[in-house]
Amino acid sequence: MADAHGLIGARGHIPDLMKAAVFDEHGGVDVLRYQDMPVPKPGPNDVLVKVKAAACNYNDLWARRGLPGVTIILPHISGSDASGIVEQVGSAVTNVKVGDEIIHHCGQSCRVCDACTRGQEFFCKQFKIFGFQTGPLIGTYGEYVVFPAVQALPKPENLSWEEASTLSLCLVTAWRMLVTRARIQAGDYVLIWGGAGGLGYLAIQICKLFNARPIAVVSGSKKAKFVEELGAEYIIDRDVQNVEEEVKKIVGRRGVDVVFEHVGRATFPTSIVCLKWGGTLVTCGATSGFDAQTDVRYLWTKQMNFLGSHLGSRAELSDALAFVASGQIRPVISDILPLKDIAKAQQVMERNEVMGKMVLVP
Ligand code: NAP
Repeated sequence: MADAHGLIGARGHIPDLMKAAVFDEHGGVDVLRYQDMPVPKPGPNDVLVKVKAAACNYNDLWARRGLPGVTIILPHISGSDASGIVEQVGSAVTNVKVGDEIIHHCGQSCRVCDACTRGQEFFCKQFKIFGFQTGPLIGTYGEYVVFPAVQALPKPENLSWEEASTLSLCLVTAWRMLVTRARIQAGDYVLIWGGAGGLGYLAIQICKLFNARPIAVVSGSKKAKFVEELGAEYIIDRDVQNVEEEVKKIVGRRGVDVVFEHVGRATFPTSIVCLKWGGTLVTCGATSGFDAQTDVRYLWTKQMNFLGSHLGSRAELSDALAFVASGQIRPVISDILPLKDIAKAQQVMERNEVMGKMVLVP
């Protein structure tokens, strides 16, 4: 039965206030505050979720620092990924019910335009990455979060709350880059930058799934061991090895079939040199800078494919999650911290120490 506000539920008492991580201005970690905030109220198509765990993403850092060309709505609660329990649903919600254990897909769009109904939500005029471009105060770094019910997917039963919270954003991004965009094939050599990072450690596992041959680039011996355990066939430690020379030793002058890019300025020239004639570079980011240099002669003479990729659809995430359920893709957690320690978590990320994913628990 819906209440006077059209809401169905709740499982138990829903408080008026919750603890959340908030910032009002851009800057260093000192702008982050852990404070009382009103518990958000769901609309007719929304769910109210009690957050059990929320994974950190690199977009937390971009949002806090501020990013040219992207509007970050202030005051801001970050957090794109979460696992949790549905506490309340709006009157129009049919796909989930109170008490369901769910994870959150962070691609938010209108769901009715041509792009959305084609399964290309990322081309929707209203497309936003939840917790990054949404707001004010709409993200998963609180005890409760409200989002459109269509963004809820069942929590994989074989995962803990913390593990389940790590998957959505990075898994759908890596999946779309390699499977939908680059169309990796058995036997392909795939050069993966940041093999131990949030995207890279999943990219290695996706390559293995397709019998492709991951060449993981990492910095340092701890990360090298980590990617070896994940199944990287070749490992290049960029702290002590030259990536271009090592790639030549692995594939000869032929070059790699696919480069998995997200680093940008620092790696782009090497990515291009390492790519085979007719090869594919797919990118979704630019951690080291957007103004990457390209010698365009390589592009035409070697007839290379440069592909952009941005998040992915809910359907792509479902496809990838099937391999999580079967145990062929597994989440790896670097550290679990209480939400109040968000500043510490972001400092670890900024020091480039994370292997797999970092998780915050409210
Ligand atoms: P992450 O967990 O921090 O991993 C990034 C990895 O990049 C690190 O492990 C590091 O590996 C490597 N790296 C950093 N600086 C480097 C440099 N100068 N040269 C070579 N490698 C370097 O981050 P993530 O979650 O994988 O995300 C990576 C990027 O993709 C971020 O910029 C993020 O915003 C973006 N992204 C975009 C989308 C999208 O939909 N468009 C989605 C997810 C992420 P080593 O130091 O071990 O080599």
